[in-house]
Amino acid sequence: SPALDESAPDTSTLVEQRDRAAADYATLVGRGLKLDLTRGKPSSAQLDLSNDLLALPGAGHAVVDGTDTRNYGGLLGLTGLRELFSAALQVPTAQLLAADNASLAVMHDCLVHAQLSVLPGAQRRWADEPKVKFLCPVPGYDRHFALCERFGIEMIQVPMTEDGPDMDVVERLVAADPAVKGIWCVPKYSNPDGVVYSDETARRLAAMPTAAPDFRIFWDNAYAVHHLTDEEVRIADLLALCAEHGNPDRAFVFGSTSKITFAGSGVSFFGSSEANVAWYLKNTAMRTIGPDKVNQLRHLMFLRDEDGLREHMRRHRELLRPKFDAVDRILTEQLDGTGLASWSKPRGGYFVSLDVPAGCAKEVVRRAAEAGIALTPAGATHPHGQDPEDRTIRIGPTFPDLADVELAMAGLATCVRLVGYERLLGEGAR
Ligand code: PMP
Repeated sequence: SPALDESAPDTSTLVEQRDRAAADYATLVGRGLKLDLTRGKPSSAQLDLSNDLLALPGAGHAVVDGTDTRNYGGLLGLTGLRELFSAALQVPTAQLLAADNASLAVMHDCLVHAQLSVLPGAQRRWADEPKVKFLCPVPGYDRHFALCERFGIEMIQVPMTEDGPDMDVVERLVAADPAVKGIWCVPKYSNPDGVVYSDETARRLAAMPTAAPDFRIFWDNAYAVHHLTDEEVRIADLLALCAEHGNPDRAFVFGSTSKITFAGSGVSFFGSSEANVAWYLKNTAMRTIGPDKVNQLRHLMFLRDEDGLREHMRRHRELLRPKFDAVDRILTEQLDGTGLASWSKPRGGYFVSLDVPAGCAKEVVRRAAEAGIALTPAGATHPHGQDPEDRTIRIGPTFPDLADVELAMAGLATCVRLVGYERLLGEGAR
């Protein structure tokens, strides 16, 4: 991580660097840019890859395997689509449900159901617990944290390592406190730092003793097939590991096609143990008579099989890779060796995490906004939107076109230099 330390250059060099950054910044502001690197949305070109969906399933194609997709029912989702995603999500088809368009909604429902209905292995409903706490690896996904806030779940931060959450910390916290009921995990190409959980991290999560009998791992595998390189990175099979270690009900697995097909009209998935799936279905039957199976059918017809899915993701990669390469190239050109920044080099997923010197992230984001470059608010990567060190900035380069990503990154790098050198000189707003 970058730090303002004694090895910093002498004052006259710093003044020169700050002056150059200030001149670059003035030029930047003068250009009147209007760019947005905030949310991790697919670009229009990516959405176009799935345009065939708009004509599917087509008239006369509503019945599949004896199921009329137009009608009520089919709470488990279409079998063919569950089969297709079974390998990618590492959940046996029988334990994998296909649902409506947002995995976030499924996560939300799991929390609601756990509040209101006793989970397998639980002594009581979470609503009847004096306190419910979740472990939140940071930096992490702001909407996970927002769900905790919504349901009054206390968040405990756990630092991330290159192999996933710091498992020494996790093991200590879950063993000591029965109020700790869950942990958020984005195990592959995590949001925002691109971390891939090691097999050993997954094994320890599956095996660790927990004070709560109803502890759950919220395994949000949102980027399971979203590779940016030739390597199809594999992670451990958490469900199988949990069963192997005598904790069969510990894992809730989530996924979706939001960043495979249409972000607003995809299909979500939920996978878990037989007991958890039965619990989930019983509760879900109270809120819906069945998911949108027409949408599931058109997804099945469009993606076809695992090869079809792989080929489709390769097309996404062709569009995404140049943008991620540009982010790394421009940060390297402008900030490498300055001691002002370090950043992730993700092998997949949707984000790059940029670390600036402590106390500078908010100011960098503010300066960028003044220059017309919208960034995710500093702090969004942490519970309650507060990064205690004020150092992490999430970059989402997927939505703008390549030329705009390049402009925005060059502008952002200028802001990092300006704020960084001002701080080194003891200047600038605190
Ligand atoms: N989980 C993670 C880690 C994400 O980054 C996102 C999207 N930014 C989601 C879930 C949302 O998924 P969905 O569209 O299926 O609700």
